Amino acid sequence: MNPCLLCMKPISEVASWQSFFALEKKKTLCDDCSKRFVRADIKEEGDVLDAVHSLYEYDEAMRDWLHQYKFLQDVALAQVFSNELRRAFSSTDTIVPIPMHPERARSRTFAHVETLLDGAKRPYVQLLAKTNTSVMGEKSRHERLNMEQLFELIPGAVVQPITYRLVDDIYTTGTTLRQAATVLKQAGAARVEAVSLIRSIQK
Ligand SMILES: [Zn+2]
Repeated sequence: MNPCLLCMKPISEVASWQSFFALEKKKTLCDDCSKRFVRADIKEEGDVLDAVHSLYEYDEAMRDWLHQYKFLQDVALAQVFSNELRRAFSSTDTIVPIPMHPERARSRTFAHVETLLDGAKRPYVQLLAKTNTSVMGEKSRHERLNMEQLFELIPGAVVQPITYRLVDDIYTTGTTLRQAATVLKQAGAARVEAVSLIRSIQK
């Protein structure tokens, strides 16, 4: 029996035809922990960013998960939303993860968006690179909105006149996703949509 990734209690796994054929990943959370995550499926439309689909709201359960995954770097937690994320895309989608800064990639953390997509078994293309060294969380909303362009195309990247689907872990003000969409549109993308695991609505 596997322990629950969040509370470490053993998970009672009932064998089913689905698990037999390995269509779905094995349970990673116990029933009590799973119940804390409630799908919200918030769909929003915009201008440069044509549409955003957020799977969950930023609630207490998500705050705990994000903290343990991103800041405590519990990489196994990427598996918690693998099935949900896989179903958020079709096999023909061209997926572009929001990149993290190369300095951070080198030092203290992992590529959390790419790791989520790896867990969901969805291939992606990396077209964007970060241009700015600032850490978003340390800036005020006003500062963030007035920052320089966050992203640039990776040298040699080819953007086609098709629909791209950006992916990020959390969508708050939308600055990150809109800036990424702007770069893709300026390079010739026909349409840019996004999937965010979490929607944080600022009150
Ligand atoms: Zn649990």
